[in-house]
Amino acid sequence: EKADAQMLLIFGASGDLTTRKLIPALYELYVRNLLPENFVILGAARTVLTDNEFRRKQCDGILTSQKELSAKDARLSLFLKRVYYMGFDTQNTDEYETLKNRVEELQNLYSLPDNIVFYMATPPEMYEVIPLGLQKCGLAYTSDGFRRIVVEKPFGTDIKSAKHLTRLLESIFDEHDIYRIDHYLGKETVQNILVLRFSNGIFEPLWNRNYIDHVEIVSSETLGIGNRGGYYESSGALRDMVQNHLLQLMAFIAMEPPVAFDPESIRDEIAKVFKSLHHYTPEEMQEQIVRGQYTAGTIAGESVQGYRDEKNVSGDSVRETYVAVKIELDNWRWAGTPFYIYTGKRLSEKKTEIIIHFKSTPQQLFVGQCSGSSCNQLIIRVQPNESIALRFGLKIPGSGFEVRQVSMDFLYSSLSDKKLPDAYERLLLDVMLGDSTLYSRADAQEASWNFIDPIIKNWVKRGKDGLAFYASGSDPEEIDRLMPHDKKCNCCNEMM
Ligand code: NAP
Repeated sequence: EKADAQMLLIFGASGDLTTRKLIPALYELYVRNLLPENFVILGAARTVLTDNEFRRKQCDGILTSQKELSAKDARLSLFLKRVYYMGFDTQNTDEYETLKNRVEELQNLYSLPDNIVFYMATPPEMYEVIPLGLQKCGLAYTSDGFRRIVVEKPFGTDIKSAKHLTRLLESIFDEHDIYRIDHYLGKETVQNILVLRFSNGIFEPLWNRNYIDHVEIVSSETLGIGNRGGYYESSGALRDMVQNHLLQLMAFIAMEPPVAFDPESIRDEIAKVFKSLHHYTPEEMQEQIVRGQYTAGTIAGESVQGYRDEKNVSGDSVRETYVAVKIELDNWRWAGTPFYIYTGKRLSEKKTEIIIHFKSTPQQLFVGQCSGSSCNQLIIRVQPNESIALRFGLKIPGSGFEVRQVSMDFLYSSLSDKKLPDAYERLLLDVMLGDSTLYSRADAQEASWNFIDPIIKNWVKRGKDGLAFYASGSDPEEIDRLMPHDKKCNCCNEMM
């Protein structure tokens, strides 16, 4: 399906996201013939650049993302011809009139219909300023086309600010034209959760508290916070990863089957999951949540500094770089089946995966052998090495009945020899098509903040009390107390 002819107007276009992700994704869509026949990309930011300087910068970004591509490729120059730039200060209301004129000029030049997607790739402080500027100059409205607005993360920093931002956006745009991006939902492996669950009869009967013991959702990184000290000090792992990406992954696993495969039916079910999140009392929080901060240590043989020594980080910061949460869902399907979410920086391994642990057989016929909950697992490896594996016990050939855990693996490389599309390709295409399935809705966002907010307030109250320190390259030991059983299977020694 091809989107209608349109303009993509990117604010903050001189920044990292535009050059590293957005423009390379748009180029890939162009090469795959998925962009509209007639399109213009207009970048806007304060940095003074000519169209050609901006094109050269974006060309470098594309070449960095596609090593085999040559700068002389004809398709690359044809694509870049449709890319324009305008020096523009988002905070100066007078400049919106000039922006409007430039938009109209380009629309006339290419006989473009009045369809515009606005993409806010700026610091979050601009997420209110830009829509208000677009409203004031009239660019937010059209009588014979469409307006859609993409909001990057973070969408608010608590329930109050998220609600405020939604109210402001909804005073200018319709809710169905507001696209709150969560790039995790653009990943093939994440979308495949929906297909795995809802296109196969074999999993659904087991997909509930009767057969699933617990679910783990892990997103670990070996990297530290890099140059993002300022941002991270006001954010932390809970806001940066759990409130959005990991709760969304959980919702895909936990949601009821939608009545139809359309955006609102799917988003209705996701919102219901968030509304069923069990809210903890302050005492329960101490039991069910672990927060940690990395100290100096070793990653891949190299010494790295602790969080408090990073640039723009306070020497006595209590900001969490690690969080583990035991989540309970108060609903019919999942009552009694916990979801464990772990995420952190400077851990031993980089991976994002979901492990569904099935319950053990009602009676242990092969005593001491693999048949406990750790032995039947469905593992969805989101990244890297994208794959799905089903693990179960089988007899080792020979005398007796020695059981060994085996794995049936599906690798994405066997489904297609093409490289997996970047998440932004799918999400940009969807917004151009007007499909909001993989974007989060206001009610889901607010329900997730309602869960997160009391945890943050509790931490603020407790200060450093309860903050676990872990050496870079290792996992905080405190997570052991969250786990339901022994962490290792006693027969195969696999981690549960
Ligand atoms: P960035 O490199 O800092 O770029 C943001 C751009 O916004 C700057 O180049 C700046 O350009 C412009 N800007 C406009 N008004 C500004 C103002 N008043 N103060 C400062 N800058 C202003 O940030 P980014 O990494 O591209 O990220 C953009 C947004 O995407 C952020 O909200 C971030 O949280 C989100 N995000 C980024 C990534 C990523 O991989 N980079 C991933 C997920 C989400 P001028 O100085 O030229 O105006």
